Amino acid sequence: MNNTKLPLLPKELISLRRLLAFSGTVYLVWWFAVEALLPDSFNPFLGRILVVAGFFVALGLSYVNQWVQNHLRFLMGVCLWILTLHYFYLFYNNHGGMDWIIGCYITVLAICFYFLSNTSLLSYTGFVIVLSTVIVFMIPSLQKSVFLPGLVTILIQANIGMRARLNLIQTRALAANMSENVRIRDEFISIASHELKTPISTLKLQTQLIERDIKKSAQPYTPEKLTQTVALLNRQVDRLFELVETMLDVSRISAGRLTLDKEVIHLPEIIQEIVTGLQMENLVTIHAPKDLTINADRIRMSQVILNLVTNAKKYGNEKPVQIKLESNKSQVILTVEDQGLGIAPEFIDRIFNRFERAISAQHISGLGLGLYISKQIIDAHNGTIKVESELGIGSRFTVILPRPH
Ligand code: ADP
Repeated sequence: MNNTKLPLLPKELISLRRLLAFSGTVYLVWWFAVEALLPDSFNPFLGRILVVAGFFVALGLSYVNQWVQNHLRFLMGVCLWILTLHYFYLFYNNHGGMDWIIGCYITVLAICFYFLSNTSLLSYTGFVIVLSTVIVFMIPSLQKSVFLPGLVTILIQANIGMRARLNLIQTRALAANMSENVRIRDEFISIASHELKTPISTLKLQTQLIERDIKKSAQPYTPEKLTQTVALLNRQVDRLFELVETMLDVSRISAGRLTLDKEVIHLPEIIQEIVTGLQMENLVTIHAPKDLTINADRIRMSQVILNLVTNAKKYGNEKPVQIKLESNKSQVILTVEDQGLGIAPEFIDRIFNRFERAISAQHISGLGLGLYISKQIIDAHNGTIKVESELGIGSRFTVILPRPH
């Protein structure tokens, strides 16, 4: 009945489960009450048991099956359509003379309104109007009653009320989203400018020193000194370039423009290049089968590995780092393990989010974006990335990538 395209939020899943349990139980109680209060009414056992079973089967399956969980709104809707159908069936067989059925039916409507979307309420309205029109023709006495006009009035009111409620919810969500976006933007600007300042200040200092040297002496630079100075300037420019690239990646991800250019890549070679590039040969042990290849985006995968190894260096307390690459028929598993600072349990789940850091910028600087970008890249490759860590003991990052046969 409801929009099934959006995934369920955990809170909504809980409320739908409660609603299923509530509806099934109310129906069960109602069934016993009618049995006792109106023993001669038409109220077949099988029909009732099927409707109650519908609610509880959907509820039970939502605990064991992900598909059911994802489509619980839809299944709840199906249960309510069946329940409505059942009411009309009872109404017809009790010759339209049972007020208790109408009373209970109003309860069903109330439950429906709790979670219906606009479209589903409209289709439900159509469904009920068709059923009631048919029943009015089948039970002539109803033509002289307010049954159909009364029902149509309730449904029109419900539709108008629902539209107003949805508009309100949308306006609120929009406002909340906008202020959240402003907060994220401000945070980003403040972190980014802080991070950019360091290499820019160093560059500025270097150029001032060069300027001073030039002014001071006629021949200030030997080739060795020049090479040294240029290397220093280059390092700062590289750092700036890296920071700007990271920011661009974040905006690419937000705009859904992270594209992959897949090819067969040789992972052990890439790992070796990165370790050499970071001058970490003395610290790192690599265990990798020589010929391991995978179909992935070379630049993006290198970015992930570079981020994990850089972090192992940055947060690794200069202690040994182990990089392991394993594979089986369906997966390639990469682990990067250090014996450094470790991560406190309260941060473990958050460090893959944007700007989340488990350490203050005063201690070790960073944008808090590397793992976020890495996770997006791994997700785009249909893989997973996770971390196990203990504060003061070390961290192990594991990347699992699927390997198509
Ligand atoms: P950055 O390093 O720029 O802060 P990341 O997204 O790469 O951003 O990492 C997020 C946070 O996760 C880091 O700030 C750090 O607190 C924590 N972290 C990442 N890797 C490690 C590691 N190997 N050991 C301990 N903490 C880590």
